[in-house]
Amino acid sequence: MSDKVTERDLTCIVCPRGCALHVSTDKNGKVTVTGNTCARGATYGEAEVTHPVRTLTTTVLMADGSVLPVRTDKAIPKEMMFSVMREINNLCVCRPVTFGDVIEEDILHTGANLIATGIWPKND
Ligand code: SF4
Repeated sequence: MSDKVTERDLTCIVCPRGCALHVSTDKNGKVTVTGNTCARGATYGEAEVTHPVRTLTTTVLMADGSVLPVRTDKAIPKEMMFSVMREINNLCVCRPVTFGDVIEEDILHTGANLIATGIWPKND
């Protein structure tokens, strides 16, 4: 294993406080997070250097050409964001949808469902 110690400065995005984190990884892979105000920041900082994940929020095309807001129901690996976006861009939904409906289960085998955060058709 390399003797190199890696250092990263990050901004915690778990809550609006936005604490400045310093994350170092020693030669044995032990991760140390400082600058966090709470335990959630330490968890976030460690995940960012070991296995970063994000909840994907976007829109999906509906049958009438409008778009519906959607998101994944859990965070997915950051490195899969573009492939999941491509998958979503190929979807077209042709059925009535309400809040929380699953648009696509286990999208690209991420373990996350794509769910609606809006309704269609809209009741104007
Ligand atoms: S470390 Fe805690 S308090 Fe600071 S931004 Fe992250 S979640 Fe918020």
